[in-house]
Amino acid sequence: EKARWAALKDVPAVSRDGVAIELLANAGLLLDMRHLDQTGAAGVGLFRTELHFMVRGRLPRVREQTEYYRAVRELCNGRRLVFRTLDVGGDKLLPYMKREKEENPAMGWRAIRISLDHPGLFRMQIRALLHASAGEELDIMFPMVADIAEFKAAREVLQRELDWARRRGHPLPVHIRVGVMLEVPALVWRLPALLPLVDFVSVGSNDLMQFMYAVDRGSARVADRYDPLSSAFLSVLRRIARQCEQAEVPFSICGEMAGRPVEALALLALGFRQLSMRANAIGPIKELVLATDIAALRKEMNGWLGRDDRTLRPMLQDYAARHQI
Ligand code: PEP
Ligand code: MG
Repeated sequence: EKARWAALKDVPAVSRDGVAIELLANAGLLLDMRHLDQTGAAGVGLFRTELHFMVRGRLPRVREQTEYYRAVRELCNGRRLVFRTLDVGGDKLLPYMKREKEENPAMGWRAIRISLDHPGLFRMQIRALLHASAGEELDIMFPMVADIAEFKAAREVLQRELDWARRRGHPLPVHIRVGVMLEVPALVWRLPALLPLVDFVSVGSNDLMQFMYAVDRGSARVADRYDPLSSAFLSVLRRIARQCEQAEVPFSICGEMAGRPVEALALLALGFRQLSMRANAIGPIKELVLATDIAALRKEMNGWLGRDDRTLRPMLQDYAARHQI
């Protein structure tokens, strides 16, 4: 199988009915970047910057962050690259950062909440990202945004930092796209007002699922209790896809489900055209894309979503078997 997927590395990911799909890799360490060539990934749809902060004993200085992001960029070699700002807290703790014990860390002081409460830390990271992207395009997105005010506040910090760098005559990115992760359900309800403000959206389905079903993604007893292929969750994803299409805002998904075959099938049917996943899923998912008639599947999917089954998994599996996917 490995050899079969490796042979697909340079084959474009186009569905049987001619829809081009962008298959991207999730990454967090320089080591991960090697997989881009091996898998033929179109780029990095989610670069988890917190990894660099977690593997060391103290806060990395601006210069260290800059060098790190520059190295990531070089290894990306001109492919698409989306940096996510710091997402610590929850299950990802920095040994050198003081914090109070929380009853529910996943819903606690984490991600953009920490960045907004520590503008100095946030600005340092943004400064490094701007610096490392001089003369290039910079795609940057914010994690765990729950409302529009948070997105605006984060973007303001970015703007302040940009103005500061411009005044000093620092070389800057030629273009900056500012995106938001959709992983808090409340934000899904604000899409009509949010979408005009953002350049792109990326669904963090791991957290979105966790909060939609009130199910701790890290708890073995409950993590698999509900299915991301449930009508409820897929309906939310369909809503996101439709609203982004209407607003003409590029959207992608970067949670684990994008790299699982049956789930990926559902995402294609819902209108997702950019999937970001762990690198070793790219081969199998490309094979699936090549074998799928998305328009035909979409019709069936809309029918299934109108019923009230607990999960659409059996229908999707049966569809895949019938069509030799
Ligand atoms: C997600 O929540 O789906 C996501 C991609 O972010 P992380 O897994 O890093 O929380
Ligand atoms: Mg997340």
